[in-house]
Amino acid sequence: MPLRFFNTYSRELEEFEPCDPASRKIGIYTCGPTVYSRAHIGNFRAYIFEDLLQRHLELRGYHVHRVMNITDVDDKTIRGAREANIPLSEFTAPFKEAFFQDLETLRIKRADEFPAATEQKYIERMIAMIETLISRGLAYQAEDKSVYYRINKFANYGKLAHFDLSQLQSTGRVKNDEYDKEHVGDFALWKAWDEEDGDVGWESAWGRGRPGWHIECSAMSTALLGDQIDIHCGGVDNIFPHHEAEIAQTEGCTGKKFVCYWLHCAHLLVDGQKMSKSLGNFYTIPDVLAKGYSGREIRYALMRVHFRAPLNFTWEGMEETREALKRIDEWLERLREAAAKSADNKSDTQIGQQFEEALDDDLNISAALGFLFESIRETNRALDRNELDAASAKAWLNWWERVNSVLLVEKEKGQELPPEIAALAGAREMARRAKDWRKSDELRDKINALGWKVRDTKDGQKIAPGATS
Ligand code: AMP
Ligand code: ZN
Repeated sequence: MPLRFFNTYSRELEEFEPCDPASRKIGIYTCGPTVYSRAHIGNFRAYIFEDLLQRHLELRGYHVHRVMNITDVDDKTIRGAREANIPLSEFTAPFKEAFFQDLETLRIKRADEFPAATEQKYIERMIAMIETLISRGLAYQAEDKSVYYRINKFANYGKLAHFDLSQLQSTGRVKNDEYDKEHVGDFALWKAWDEEDGDVGWESAWGRGRPGWHIECSAMSTALLGDQIDIHCGGVDNIFPHHEAEIAQTEGCTGKKFVCYWLHCAHLLVDGQKMSKSLGNFYTIPDVLAKGYSGREIRYALMRVHFRAPLNFTWEGMEETREALKRIDEWLERLREAAAKSADNKSDTQIGQQFEEALDDDLNISAALGFLFESIRETNRALDRNELDAASAKAWLNWWERVNSVLLVEKEKGQELPPEIAALAGAREMARRAKDWRKSDELRDKINALGWKVRDTKDGQKIAPGATS
């Protein structure tokens, strides 16, 4: 069965073929975090879906080149730096670092490149793209000195979001007091400097200012992946206006189709509402670690539902996850025991392709996991009856290697802390982030008292069994 994905652009399941059908190389671009605060697990649902996508494509023999940008200049980062009274780069640095730490906790494969919007070469590219758009009549400088995209001039504007431009005028969703724009939906490519921006700004032909969020992604994606990108991902909230704007900007400059497949994941919800910073209903990775759950448990919990279906986050869900992973751990242990009984490797066990085929079908993880647990049930039954020989156990273990190369949920030896220690470690990590050294020391003493030692390294605390030296 060929791979197929639901393309947001066409709203259809489409057979997957790279933009260049002869190539096995695939470029994937992901809208990365805005580093004004620690990312929450809702954000990580998006990154985990993308990780699953990358790993499955690699399992199927594609070579993926993945780019994830870091938005380190926008309204929120500037506001944060101003409130903290520190330079922008100093304000964003700890959030970038925390983001990389969280990626590692969740076993998310690092992108090949993490371009940051404030890098001079990308700022120059953004300015050059805006110049091109102005020269083609697709953008204009308004009275307020900012530069806007003229959406009426781009025939395909609204195609991704299936949005009717006339609706935009009547919804009142967009602030109408921006009198100097030609159309309420025209979005900023370049924001003229104002006092609130402090020392954040770059010179351009239109005066001092800074790029709009949307142009950042158009410039960085094409700089690193070329004018055409195989797959562009994000959460559904990115579809409009962000991705719609990316298409208008990029195609306005290149005249070519920008993205072959648009993939968007549904939200992580809490009590039926999107988990978000603004609603205050969010958990960070250290919050969940502080409750005693491990990185692989969080990974599994965020991955186990199809990416296009909303997923409700609950603590019962975390408990179900713990049970599911325990079943896998116990099963692997039994298989390893059975496999060790003989050196015989010849097995006539036929293992179905359903796991991989389910993922081929728009990353149908629920069906893939269904097959995994069905297989676990059957092999366990055979083991109970002493009917699974060593060679067959080995065949199942080999199969699991492939499965786990996508899921990445196997317990790593010596890595997993008991829940009680993990909870204390998570709490200590939070205390350290809040620079509450007294609490951090108290928690270290508690961890020591339970027979574990703590070492603080530049990559964070490391905890291992044993007395403190
Ligand atoms: P942001 O830092 O807000 O730009 O978000 C980074 C990524 O996380 C984007 O792809 C968003 O679409 C995604 N995202 C934000 N909130 C959620 C959520 N509750 N569930 C799933 N994805 C989300
Ligand atoms: Zn983006």
